Amino acid sequence: MGARTTPDSPSADPNCNDPVKKTKTDCKDEKKCWVDDYEKKISIESYSRYFKQYKPDGTLMSYSFPKTYKILAPVKTGDKITVEVRFKVEKQASVTDADVTTAKANLEKGINTYWNNQFTLEADDPECGKKSFKVEYKAIWVDSGHDYTMKVHDTYAREGLTGKVLDVSKTTGDWTYAHEFAHTVGTPDEYSYTTDTETVKYVKPDGTEDSGVSAPPFKDKSAADATIMSSHSNTTVLKRHGWNIAIETQELLTAKLGRKIKCDIK
Ligand SMILES: [Zn+2]
Repeated sequence: MGARTTPDSPSADPNCNDPVKKTKTDCKDEKKCWVDDYEKKISIESYSRYFKQYKPDGTLMSYSFPKTYKILAPVKTGDKITVEVRFKVEKQASVTDADVTTAKANLEKGINTYWNNQFTLEADDPECGKKSFKVEYKAIWVDSGHDYTMKVHDTYAREGLTGKVLDVSKTTGDWTYAHEFAHTVGTPDEYSYTTDTETVKYVKPDGTEDSGVSAPPFKDKSAADATIMSSHSNTTVLKRHGWNIAIETQELLTAKLGRKIKCDIK
């Protein structure tokens, strides 16, 4: 067998320690990898950025769904990406403090049960390789500086997020909270708001559009393609439901590191 030595890794090249010769050598400075922790207040128009909705004839629907939330990406010291949404609670008539406590607990339970520990976000730095993070969602209760107002009503016919207001009631369950919470970070409904069967297309982190999701006005929860975003009580969560976080984390890391970082949900 012929002797074959393994080439030195770039950073092991002695020239890399020489300030003059260094410029002539391909020196990878390991210290430049995952050098800091980052966070960013996200304020975006989710329609088009995260998804698009098409009529049966292929015409693009015109919608506007502005969203705000925060992403914490401690890529140096942490092992998870945290998605924070700030809520200010407004108690409506005939609602007690105890009802508010229950409502907060139900939103937190919905987030923990349906959204946490579902996604692994993989960040790929061309100079440093890949690093994986769990995605954790969190509701933060505040008196000011909120992203959304959560109005807790005595009764409410159909809970939902309208603009920056989340209307819920004393009896809103954790599944409904989980579905509505997803809207606060821009995850869309996978049903149509018209009588037509429309098509929802998510935008992937690489910028291309995913294949379409059939979005009739109503989809039975036992339908093969039903998800938590299409049908009441369905608990199916798919990777596309985390692409919004990959898109924002990718943009944040690319801006901070000054080179194209790719993020994806695994
Ligand atoms: Zn919805």
